[in-house]
Amino acid sequence: MRADNVIQCPGALIVGGGIAGLFTALKLSPFPALVLSASRPGASGSSAWAQGGIAASVGTDDCWQSHAADTIRAGAGLCDPHIVEIVTRDAAARIDDLVVYGAPFDRNADGSLAVGLEAAHSHARIVHVRGDQAGAEVSRVLAERARTTPSISFAEGFQAIELAMENGCVAGVFARWGIGNSTRLMLFRSHVVVLATGGIGALFAVTTNPADSTGQGLGMAARAGAAISDAEFVQFHPTAIAIGRDPAPLATEALRGAGATLIDESGRRFMPSAHPDAELAPRDVVARAIHREIANGHRVFLDCRSALGAQFADRFPTVFAACKSGGIDPATDPIPVAPAAHYHMGGIATDERARSSLPGLWGVGECASTGLHGANRLASNSLLEAVVFGARAAEDIRNIARVSAPPSPPPPIPKLTVAAVAPKALREAMSCNVGLERDEKGLLRAFETISRIERAANGEATLLNMTAAAKLVVAAALRRHESRGAHFRIDYPQALDGSARSLLTLTNALAAIGAKGASEAYPLSR
Ligand SMILES: Cc1cc2nc3c(=O)[nH]c(=O)nc-3n(C[C@H](O)[C@H](O)[C@H](O)COP(=O)(O)OP(=O)(O)OC[C@H]3O[C@@H](n4cnc5c(N)ncnc54)[C@H](O)[C@@H]3O)c2cc1C
Repeated sequence: MRADNVIQCPGALIVGGGIAGLFTALKLSPFPALVLSASRPGASGSSAWAQGGIAASVGTDDCWQSHAADTIRAGAGLCDPHIVEIVTRDAAARIDDLVVYGAPFDRNADGSLAVGLEAAHSHARIVHVRGDQAGAEVSRVLAERARTTPSISFAEGFQAIELAMENGCVAGVFARWGIGNSTRLMLFRSHVVVLATGGIGALFAVTTNPADSTGQGLGMAARAGAAISDAEFVQFHPTAIAIGRDPAPLATEALRGAGATLIDESGRRFMPSAHPDAELAPRDVVARAIHREIANGHRVFLDCRSALGAQFADRFPTVFAACKSGGIDPATDPIPVAPAAHYHMGGIATDERARSSLPGLWGVGECASTGLHGANRLASNSLLEAVVFGARAAEDIRNIARVSAPPSPPPPIPKLTVAAVAPKALREAMSCNVGLERDEKGLLRAFETISRIERAANGEATLLNMTAAAKLVVAAALRRHESRGAHFRIDYPQALDGSARSLLTLTNALAAIGAKGASEAYPLSR
């Protein structure tokens, strides 16, 4: 390996420039951090697209216990109550941090934070920015702040493809830069690696996530042997705007919080008969109700005409622009909607300090699975989780004495990669067979398709990260013989008593479904 291919990081190496990665870097300061990101930090990932806001019990009549109870209720029996308490208690302090970093949250006339209501929250507790601009604005201010923080440096346009391992410890990250003949492979060396690479939505054909949400961090960690938890739990947003765009634009949950209703082509409301909370029922209930309406030949619309009417454009400018781009005026027309893969509750198993099972590896944000969400995420808890665990990872890392770059020779390089976007066949297999309703036959079919794509990948690391992430979702879904939260098995429609969170490594996931040759399928250049 040429010397100019190795970069020694002076401190922590953070992979991902969304809210989780940027917040971790800021909380680490003055401890040095290098933020490595495939696309522009502050304008990339799902973070920049978040519309609703961040949940925190900062309203006058609210308390963390109520927020915790709502979170646990939505999680359908699989939340870790200790983690839920940590997150809901820490929430107000993290919102204060964001305000200090410059987040321009909407305020009431008396200067207090304005809070909105979202589905399955018992109180108004979503802090937001100009209606639906929270993700874009918070991402922007964090990136601006990080760029002027001397301890933080950036490696932009680098795609991390594989963890570098030494003696069972994470020792850095291989990343590629450039395209075609000018592609270069670099090794970024650090004994402190924080993965903040976001979710897996773009492994599905219909998704609200950006194209680079292909589970790269999850796949890299899994291929290196990390434990993965709750992989089967994928949340489908009930109301992606069905105007044929990929990714599908989102009609935020806050619209239903503001009184919008779901109707079919004849104007019939179907949610009141599906759940006592009607349109404000938990996401999985609403998404499956819409899915079934569509499966029964209906078209489904979000009707905002009487709830918002002429105020729509001012209160929800992002959704308004998306509707207009599809020729819809939501003040006068119902918005066509359909469910889309939106959020992964599962991910790299992490503890209360955001540590993974691999020494030297932390996980924050959507690529991690902390136990906060259980089987179903409560709306707007994900950005909260990202900042709470960003802060906790930073505190843990600052307390670690040995963070200098490893002195031993660098590990061998992986195969150089070309793919960054998930193959169509993989996305279709996931949407058709691993979606809102699953059964064993479909899951095994998806597994076969993923295996075929993997064999054709010929050792290409980016693709192997995607297939590893996809296989973990399938394997965990196959093992869960029940329906719970976001995971619905047609062949096992009931919830089982005493069920627990899933915890898998890639090797035992494959062994569990009788796959042969896991180490051959997932070569790691160690
Ligand atoms: C449309 C939409 C609306 C949402 N609304 C809300 C909401 O209102 N409230 C809420 O709490 N949650 C919301 N969510 C979920 C929330 O936005 C995400 O869970 C959260 O932003 C994830 O943050 P993150 O920093 O972990 O990942 P991301 O923001 O996705 O950032 C990932 C980063 O990693 C980089 N990256 C990925 N792979 C690599 C690689 N291999 N090498 C280098 N860099 C890489 C990406 O370029 C990006 O910079 C929404 C999601 C979507 C899609």
